Amino acid sequence: MTATVILQADREKSLKRRHPWVFSKAVKQVKGTPNSGDTVDVVTADGNWLGRGAYSPDSQIRVRIWTFDQAEVIDSEFFSSRIGQAWQLRQQLFDLSQTNGIRVVAAESDGLPGLTIDLYADVLVCQLLSAGVERHRKHIVAALVQLFPGYSIYERSDVDVRKKEGLQAVTGWLHLPREHGEVTILENGMKILVDVVNGHKTGFYLDQRDSRSAAARYAKGKTVLNCFSYTGTFAVSALRGGAEHVTNVDMSELALETAKRNAQANDLDLSKLDFSKADVFKLLRSYKEQGKQFDMVILDPPKFAENKAQLMSACRGYKDINRVAMQIVKPGGLLLTFSCSGLMEEALFQKVVADAALDANRDCLFIERLSQASDHPIASFYPEGHYLKGLVCLIR
Ligand code: SAH
Repeated sequence: MTATVILQADREKSLKRRHPWVFSKAVKQVKGTPNSGDTVDVVTADGNWLGRGAYSPDSQIRVRIWTFDQAEVIDSEFFSSRIGQAWQLRQQLFDLSQTNGIRVVAAESDGLPGLTIDLYADVLVCQLLSAGVERHRKHIVAALVQLFPGYSIYERSDVDVRKKEGLQAVTGWLHLPREHGEVTILENGMKILVDVVNGHKTGFYLDQRDSRSAAARYAKGKTVLNCFSYTGTFAVSALRGGAEHVTNVDMSELALETAKRNAQANDLDLSKLDFSKADVFKLLRSYKEQGKQFDMVILDPPKFAENKAQLMSACRGYKDINRVAMQIVKPGGLLLTFSCSGLMEEALFQKVVADAALDANRDCLFIERLSQASDHPIASFYPEGHYLKGLVCLIR
């Protein structure tokens, strides 16, 4: 028998708006004894059916809704149909002969809470981050094998949030294992090396695809400082767009080595590239002291705010780093600045950058807004899905 989760009175509003999370505080009673990941029905205090989801006894998010359709059963067919629908959308969005690094499933936004699936050429990487997807891993892998015959599948469920779901970190090949994790993908014709085993996240930052194109559009004839470069793909894109010179900065040696190989893979002139293994915060300050300036600075830092309590200090961090970055942009030059902290909303980020301009005593015009690429869609009922914001700033 399916267990039932009964909500407190008046706690059904968010589910009625199709937001897929039920917080533990909203739960009045659980009828039955569901285990981690089991499918449960969620009903109002009056017993009206609301949705069907995965139970997670260890998480503050006690239930993640799979479906708001009472007739829908959560079985292998459910997973192959949701994953199939998500893949169909991506096939409409991309010319696979030019771009074959694609987020196939973007968790809640694709109706599969806790599941991320990235495609890198003929390797799929999955992250199973909730009790519900962990429970159905067999169905998920079977759906992928059927949809992508002959492709390898690697699991990168080595993310801290799994702990909140009472799950251990897991990595490894799930299907057609390979000797190593390196794959070459195409992004708008640019070659990119992705290491699905040792790289960050699932291997690469697919979400910045459109921002890399934007960098190419603005780069012609410019000297560029690419901060937090990771594997240097903003640099490759900028050079392809005609940049005169790009300096990549990252503190990861491995990322910088790959950045060099990425430039080679695209037959670029290595004399137009520098690689600096340094702490961006310190390097920007020392450039400022030396009076060194660039035509264009790219600032794509890691997430500063993991939770609401960290938001204020994250704002200070973003303001500080943007201020120093503006000070090393030549008058009339550009700053491409990003925040991937989901808790930092777009309007707040813009305000922080505006405050940074004030402190830097520079005029700043926002000439373009950037966001996560279209394979990272935002479901209207799940605004948290919008996490990546970018501003192209003309600095005078
Ligand atoms: N712009 C990249 C993604 C950046 S991810 C892309 O488009 O692919 C953030 C990067 O910042 C990581 O590579 C990490 O190694 C690096 N990093 C984090 N803190 C840093 C610091 N203080 N100084 C230099 N690099 C840092």
